[in-house]
Amino acid sequence: MARITGAKCRLCRREKIKLFLKGDRCYTGKCAIEKGGIIPGQHGKKMSKLSEYGVRLREKQRAKRIYGMNEGQFRRFYGIAAGKKGVTGEYLLKLLESRLDSVVYRAGLAASRDAAKILVLHGHVQVNGKFVNIASYILAPGDIVTVKEKSKGMKAIKMSIDRVKERGGITSGAWLDVDFDNLKVTFKKMPEESEIGSILNKQLIVEFYNR
Ligand code: SF4
Repeated sequence: MARITGAKCRLCRREKIKLFLKGDRCYTGKCAIEKGGIIPGQHGKKMSKLSEYGVRLREKQRAKRIYGMNEGQFRRFYGIAAGKKGVTGEYLLKLLESRLDSVVYRAGLAASRDAAKILVLHGHVQVNGKFVNIASYILAPGDIVTVKEKSKGMKAIKMSIDRVKERGGITSGAWLDVDFDNLKVTFKKMPEESEIGSILNKQLIVEFYNR
């Protein structure tokens, strides 16, 4: 399982955008981007002008970092999307958001995708009543994600839900139905781009792999 283990804020500074990798801190004034973080490294400033290839590469890197995936995993997802009929970029985003860790995060059960990965890996999550400890597991429409009975009192889950509620985060919608009382999430369908508010330029990612 790929996880971001280094300095997360450094990745945001590198991409010059908030990737929301640190949970609560990302919504406060302590966020390095909010404080005007610059590209890390002694050559950071010189790297601000990018070639066409560089622009596409950066978009792909952003996507990998947002979803906490390594190159091999991301390329595999791209390959699946490219093999489907329709618009590859659109299907890629849908696929990424249909990952079990993504849904746990989007539902508000974890403060970040990384925290969601840990919840899944440590066996706190079930799909249709069965344990699934694979973060990249792709949910199908109608799948029910629940928190294991013994894990329902976990402080991290409770705190995450409290924060979501404080921020007025909308966790239920056309693609997800979230029942906080029972810690139950229904994956109704793959989301449309407009439903997830993606910051990614999917076309640039497609162009990177098709170069
Ligand atoms: Fe990125 Fe800001 Fe969160 Fe750090 S606090 S991971 S810079 S969004």
